[in-house]
Amino acid sequence: MTVYSGPVFDMAVNQFAVIADHLSIPHDERDRLLLPKRALTISCPIHRDDGSIAVFEGYRVQHHLTLGPTKGGTRFAPSVDIGEVAALAIWMSWKCALVGLPYGGAKGGVRVDLSSISKRELESLSRRYMQEMIPFVGPHIDVMAPDMGTNEQVMAWFMDTYSMYQGRTVTEIVTGKPVSSGGTLGRREATGRGVAHLARRVLKELAIDLTNATAVVQGFGNVGSYAALGLHQFGLKVIAVSDHTGALHDKAGLDIPALMRHAGEHGSIAGFSNELHFDPAQLLTLACDVLVPAAMERVIDANVAKNLNCRVLAEGANGPTTPDADLVLQKRQDEIFLIPDILCNSGGVVVSYFEWVQDLQQLFWEEEEVTRREYHILDRAFDQMVTRARVDKIPHRTAAMAIGVEKVRAAKITRGLFP
Ligand code: NAD
Repeated sequence: MTVYSGPVFDMAVNQFAVIADHLSIPHDERDRLLLPKRALTISCPIHRDDGSIAVFEGYRVQHHLTLGPTKGGTRFAPSVDIGEVAALAIWMSWKCALVGLPYGGAKGGVRVDLSSISKRELESLSRRYMQEMIPFVGPHIDVMAPDMGTNEQVMAWFMDTYSMYQGRTVTEIVTGKPVSSGGTLGRREATGRGVAHLARRVLKELAIDLTNATAVVQGFGNVGSYAALGLHQFGLKVIAVSDHTGALHDKAGLDIPALMRHAGEHGSIAGFSNELHFDPAQLLTLACDVLVPAAMERVIDANVAKNLNCRVLAEGANGPTTPDADLVLQKRQDEIFLIPDILCNSGGVVVSYFEWVQDLQQLFWEEEEVTRREYHILDRAFDQMVTRARVDKIPHRTAAMAIGVEKVRAAKITRGLFP
């Protein structure tokens, strides 16, 4: 039992236990690898538009500092708590190590229902959150990025607030910023584009013709919409998508560019079509070649896993599959090819790393170079995962996490234990 205990943190603990057993990590080393190094809880008071004061609880967790600064997104959602943030920070660590980035994992968030605050209140909250975080973060300490409920605009407010306190522009304090404020080309698209790239790679290896293939995407925010667009551009029919307002289904394939324009203008997929409505509860089990959960964690439980009807499960979201569901997927691994979250959605942090490097050097790359380098890193990690899974006869998730955990552990062993 720790301050972090809760359903999402327990999931990260259970997953780690599987990896630690597989790697025969001695028990007295496990807590050092698993438990977050630092956590901060803050209260963010803001003035509401009606003149009253509201206080929102915020968090930031830095998992380990062994490989360099920590890196991770900031989530604005009603479900956010310290345990969820800690789990997400731990997954970030294994992800960064898997793809070879010089970072530990971090995550942050504010417990807030975005539908209940205005744009001005959101700006106040974003600025106050960053202001409270100043003693805890820094370009060489902890670098934030967007996650669920935050976007380029929020990152620009974070960067501006930090810069005002430093008395100079510090673009490298956050990634996922607008290109006009020191962001990189290709970051907005990076996570979803990476999901689509890896899914295409698996379809080719399974000899499935892309132009006859279908995809289903849960969540139509940053990750889901660009994953859907990438798959659409690769020739797949995206036959269903959903967001928090509902689901759309068209077996002829949805017009994804038009749906993205609609969601950009209206904030959701609601109102796009009167004829294509579909029961969101049935979305994950629709028959398709590629299923992309890209909304939130723990949506695929054992029951859903038994009923999945896809060939490739490309995890765009973090932690969409519960440990119970993993046991089902292990039995079904000849039918369903799993691309686990820490690999599948790692294009986001890979391109965030490129953004940080470009900001530090003040030398900016063309989008083509960003995407080429992103795909190169994803392909290298994919090859390592598949080889490891084959050699050790383990599931893809175990293989991907084992590579990440091993790298962090090796660095801790060579650095030793201070003092
Ligand atoms: P976002 O806020 O841009 O989008 C979230 C989407 O999920 C929205 O379309 C929302 O309507 C939808 N959603 C919410 N509840 C839903 C429900 N019950 N059913 C269906 N859809 C629902 O967030 P995002 O940045 O796209 O992040 C999505 C997931 O991807 C999260 O798990 C996040 O941690 C992960 N992720 C994001 C990035 C990134 O670069 N943004 C990188 C790696 C992983």
